[in-house]
Amino acid sequence: MIKNNLLGKFSAVKLVTNTIIAGIVFGASAGAIQAASTSNNALNNSSLDALEPVFYGDTPVPRGRPDIALAYPAIPTDIELPHARPDIENVLPKSTVTLAEMVTNVTGLTIEGETQYKLASGESLSKLLRRAGYPQRDIAASIAAIQGKARLRALPVGKIFTISEHGFVFNSKAGRDVYALRHPESGWVGMTAVRPVERYLTFAHGVITDSIFRAAESADVPDTALNEYVRVMGFSVDFQREIRTGDAFELLYERKVDLLTGDEVGTTLHYAGLLLSGSKLGFYRFDNGENKIGWYDQDGNSAARTLMRTPISGARLSSSYGMRRHPVSGYNAMHRGVDFAAARGTPIIAAGSGIVKAAGWQGSYGRYIRIRHNATYDTAYAHMSRIASGIRAGTYVQQGQVIGYVGSTGRSTGPHLHYEILVNNRKVNPLTVSLPTGEKIEEAALDQFLAQVDMVEAEVLANGTLRYVANQQLLTSAQ
Ligand SMILES: [Zn+2]
Repeated sequence: MIKNNLLGKFSAVKLVTNTIIAGIVFGASAGAIQAASTSNNALNNSSLDALEPVFYGDTPVPRGRPDIALAYPAIPTDIELPHARPDIENVLPKSTVTLAEMVTNVTGLTIEGETQYKLASGESLSKLLRRAGYPQRDIAASIAAIQGKARLRALPVGKIFTISEHGFVFNSKAGRDVYALRHPESGWVGMTAVRPVERYLTFAHGVITDSIFRAAESADVPDTALNEYVRVMGFSVDFQREIRTGDAFELLYERKVDLLTGDEVGTTLHYAGLLLSGSKLGFYRFDNGENKIGWYDQDGNSAARTLMRTPISGARLSSSYGMRRHPVSGYNAMHRGVDFAAARGTPIIAAGSGIVKAAGWQGSYGRYIRIRHNATYDTAYAHMSRIASGIRAGTYVQQGQVIGYVGSTGRSTGPHLHYEILVNNRKVNPLTVSLPTGEKIEEAALDQFLAQVDMVEAEVLANGTLRYVANQQLLTSAQ
């Protein structure tokens, strides 16, 4: 599996960078690092000197560029590292709060003054560095030093660079900073550092009295986790009709917090559970290590269906449309569809992947889209205020893709989505039609998946806010 290969590579790297791991993990404050760093450099220099031939003359001889790892203290240690498979977080150095701190760590210099510059429209990094007052040779050398560490040709307008005389830093992607630093002896060096991120597992649950969205809100569930929850459950549950007062939800999610800024930098939902009129639904996230993330019940059956029962951005059904207060009509033989009351402009998503057969005005349906999913199933969506750009007959759409927006066009008394499922071109009741399920988890991954289910169940039983240490393996998003 790709993930294992990747980790294998990191393991190989581990030997070389052991000093960094020791320095970062077990090193103390910046002061201590600097002290150790200084003595370490002295040691390196004297051993280098001993090996170099003696020159007579005025021509300065270029010195070998020291390995950046040597700038960190190498404290011999017998301590067993906590991870059998080291995370990349432990292989790369950690970002610092200020650029000055990193300059001091790496070069031993103390600097004052660092300024933030925003990349202007049409500006390249070299132009920005010129604007910051860098001479041409430093511009060229510093950019050469970080070549390959970030996509320098695709830097977004507004990207912030913190710049000082002795180097600069910018955020290259989530959780990563790229530094270019001018070492007094070896010249410009580039390095990637990891922003320190702490991860927390949080269990949230609640009884639904009004709508699941209000219940989740009062349990402080972040929007990203709730959206994912609704998406996963939306395959099986019609959120406007099937939820009853007294039903309960539970979910287990992971929050990542950037310790330098305190910002939340990511949320991953691991488990979604729902008690629905006495029966229990539970789905578990599983990452098969090949960039394919699926949701499965505890036996490994996919949560995904060919079609979703709630083809609307679930979280947006929330605020002003609690279903207790605004009952919406269900299916009847005359009506032949289900209606979802939602605010005008709420995104409508494709219930399944397929080819758009019609997209445009259709009499009393108003703005209308019909999608053919396979030889058997079609779905239709009516009364839209707007059809999403690029959606026309012949377009291939993916399940979950936004195809239009709720409106009240055609024969309609207020903003809502009218949704139909057709089986062999006959309209059927979307509330009761049995929909084909997705694939079961592959046999080879089943044991690993079941072990993960056990871990989630243990967390859910423990029922509280838990620090990650208890469940390191659960935190699969190693990035
Ligand atoms: Zn309708």
